[in-house]
Amino acid sequence: MFPIEPLVLVHGGAGDIPSERVPGKLLGVKLAAKVGYEKLRQTGCVLDAVEEAVRSMELDPFFNAGYGSVLTTEGNVEMEASVMCGTTQRAGCVSLIKDIMHPISLARRVMKTPHNFLAGDGAMRFAKDEGFEIMEPAGQLVTDYAREALEEWKESQRRGENEFARTEIGSSNKYKVEVGTVGAVAIDGSGNIAVATSTGGITGKLPGRIGDTPLVGCGTYADNRVGGVSTTGHGETIMRHCLAYDILKRMEYLQEDAQTATENSCKRMTERLIGTAGAITIDAKGQVGISFNSKRMAWAYQKCNTIVYGIEQGQIIEEVLTQ
Ligand code: ASP
Repeated sequence: MFPIEPLVLVHGGAGDIPSERVPGKLLGVKLAAKVGYEKLRQTGCVLDAVEEAVRSMELDPFFNAGYGSVLTTEGNVEMEASVMCGTTQRAGCVSLIKDIMHPISLARRVMKTPHNFLAGDGAMRFAKDEGFEIMEPAGQLVTDYAREALEEWKESQRRGENEFARTEIGSSNKYKVEVGTVGAVAIDGSGNIAVATSTGGITGKLPGRIGDTPLVGCGTYADNRVGGVSTTGHGETIMRHCLAYDILKRMEYLQEDAQTATENSCKRMTERLIGTAGAITIDAKGQVGISFNSKRMAWAYQKCNTIVYGIEQGQIIEEVLTQ
């Protein structure tokens, strides 16, 4: 057996992130990696770690998850999330969630049921039964930034821009494309892996639209024997490529390392299907893979007392934590 160094790796969404949002996103992913790692230290549980990391970003309006989620064409928040345990391969997934601060915690609660996935009214009833606070009056998760983003998106539609402008291609910051889906992957010293991903989806989605984030194999996948992946980007594209599963299967069948598999899978997806994406991966030995073919993706991980992070292509910054 090889020694594994526990680590918590997070992302804060891939896309054409406007420059003025960069500092906030970086602060948010660094904080999420830290709180996730601290949780792992306290409880020793990788599921606790990824849930905690994602909860931190769901509270942060710099991300498109929980408070700050993007809006449907009708101006509402409809969130989705998934979590998967690499030890048991159990998964919990939710979609069409409204007025709950932490969809990721609801997804984790679904793992206790005989099912993998709850959506819509049934999921909301389950949330109530499980004691989740449903915010009243409705709409408290909607931020001004998300409202402006929807208005600008509607304007872009009147100009006839294509659907890929939402996440990257052709957008060039012409309007606010909020792309901060969040995700976390964690591994402990025994090689247990967990993954969690949470999102508000994409600005201007039709009510009832379900994306890649809550889908096992698309937004989230975990298997202790191979690794764990959380993805972000153009959901309709990621779903058709089964991005998270494809990355892990490249590692399993082609023996690619985490970085190579993550890069190759994102690249092949975009060559074939156009939309862009990013993913974070940890393999069974605790090696990290981070890749995105959008302009930017905020990511960070903590390992021992070091935080490593970046948001631009090729950027890797290391910070040693004091205390
Ligand atoms: N993948 C998400 C979706 O399409 C969006 C994102 O990652 O920013 O719902």
